Amino acid sequence: MATLWDGSGAVEAEGSPSSRGSSGVELVLSSDPATPAPLCPHGPTLLFVKVNQGKEETRRFYACSACRDRKDCNFFQWENEKLSGARLAAREAHNRRCQPPLSRMQCVQRYLKFVELPLSQRKFCQRCQQLLLPDDWEKHREHQVLGDISVAQLKRPSQLLSPLENKKTNAQYLFADRSCQFLIDLLSTLGFRRVLCVGTPRLHELIRLKASGDKKSNLKSLLLDIDFRYSQFYMEDSFCHYNMFNHHFFDGEVALEVCRTFLQEDRGEGVIMVTDPPFGGLVEPLAVTFKKLIAMWKKGQSQDNNHKELPIFWIFPYFFESRICQFFPSFRMLDYQVDYDNHALYKHGKTGRKQSPVRVFTNIPPNKIILPVEEGYRFCPLCQRYVSPENQHCEHCNLCTSKDGRKWNHCFLCKKCVKPSWIHCSICNHCALPDHSCEGPKEGCFICGELDHKRSACPNISTAKKVNKAVRKQKQRKSNKMKMETTKGQSMNHTSVTRQKKRRESPSISLLLNVQ
Ligand code: SAH
Ligand code: ZN
Ligand code: ZN
Ligand code: ZN
Ligand code: ZN
Repeated sequence: MATLWDGSGAVEAEGSPSSRGSSGVELVLSSDPATPAPLCPHGPTLLFVKVNQGKEETRRFYACSACRDRKDCNFFQWENEKLSGARLAAREAHNRRCQPPLSRMQCVQRYLKFVELPLSQRKFCQRCQQLLLPDDWEKHREHQVLGDISVAQLKRPSQLLSPLENKKTNAQYLFADRSCQFLIDLLSTLGFRRVLCVGTPRLHELIRLKASGDKKSNLKSLLLDIDFRYSQFYMEDSFCHYNMFNHHFFDGEVALEVCRTFLQEDRGEGVIMVTDPPFGGLVEPLAVTFKKLIAMWKKGQSQDNNHKELPIFWIFPYFFESRICQFFPSFRMLDYQVDYDNHALYKHGKTGRKQSPVRVFTNIPPNKIILPVEEGYRFCPLCQRYVSPENQHCEHCNLCTSKDGRKWNHCFLCKKCVKPSWIHCSICNHCALPDHSCEGPKEGCFICGELDHKRSACPNISTAKKVNKAVRKQKQRKSNKMKMETTKGQSMNHTSVTRQKKRRESPSISLLLNVQ
């Protein structure tokens, strides 16, 4: 989720769907089984298209699905590129070398040995992020090693391991107790018995902790995560090494079967999927993956349950609302602000510098989800859902309209509610920040420049005149955008330098640099 905070997510949310803002890279969803995607160490790669402004020809290429930084995985291949046998063999060897040193089974065996050791012999190497058996001590003699690892510590690996927050690949932000407790209570109130945790290691461990401490709680959990370090702490039936951007199980069929069994147990009754993906990732491949998990669950349903949906909590920033609802129209966004331990900026309420922008998207009817009244959330009978303390029901919109938790104001010219910091601009003919540059920063179609569709859906696909116009429009927008970004950077109390620097590092852009 690191890249969220630099705003690249906002580009996707506010700009053209699935394109990376001005980077000119779009995801291509190819499902031609005759040409399977080549593999990187993170499983099948994704097909992207490089879109040149104003030109129709595009070159398609494969790149890593999981890593948004070339430093983490530098896989690159043009779609039509033919590789020599030698290069293919080298790639295979590289992919193998990048896999974890221990098999899933070996990890389990090590763990079983570890728990048998007396407390004084249970050590954890902080440098290597690894539980040590006596045979390993010598190798880690010079490292920072933690001793006396208790059973309680083993049950909270997310506290023992250091979060991989700088790594864009993982972008690990762990729930604060407040949010984790809220989610767990909610899951049991709603009567769930199994939770498929996709990228939620802390939720997973707290569910298990609760279940082992409290006989009444019969909640089970299975964690799917790309962070292999977790395999040291869990048996095969409670953790799978998994890539959620391409639905890849690193341990193959056996792991896939663990997931399938979990979803289909009790004919699929009582299970929910909870996911908190890295926010820098693209929504589209995530949606494709979640649909595959849904399909897996559906296969275990009896015929008469065919209309049912797999209950899902998808935790993501509020500005992705339209994007998520595009793929999952039945999803609603809740007002509850999700907050994190290791993110100083975005905390709930007054402790953080800003309010958290992270929300829960769900297909469970919002009126069934009670938000904590002691935190000020209240029920709006008209909207039939719990809303933030300052979210007011607008009689003109007939909705509680605030998305960010602040009180929004109704603009009669725009005929909708807008952020409190916005004013109506008579040049742009809509509301915007007072110091915006007119004509807005939005990116449209690369061919004709219109805002309501993408290049791939452009009706004017071969009109040279329009193409030239588009180039001019795009250039104009780009320069407006740059001006706008500086303003946004300031108003968000976030240096624009960081935003821009990070954005340049964003995967598709670095890939482009590689291409050019
Ligand atoms: N708030 C959650 C953690 C969310 S951070 C909690 O406290 O439980 C995002 C999580 O997604 C991390 O655990 C990270 O390892 C995982 N992740 C990142 N990229 C992934 C990928 N491609 N596939 C699967 N999991 C991934
Ligand atoms: Zn990769
Ligand atoms: Zn309302
Ligand atoms: Zn309104
Ligand atoms: Zn207005």
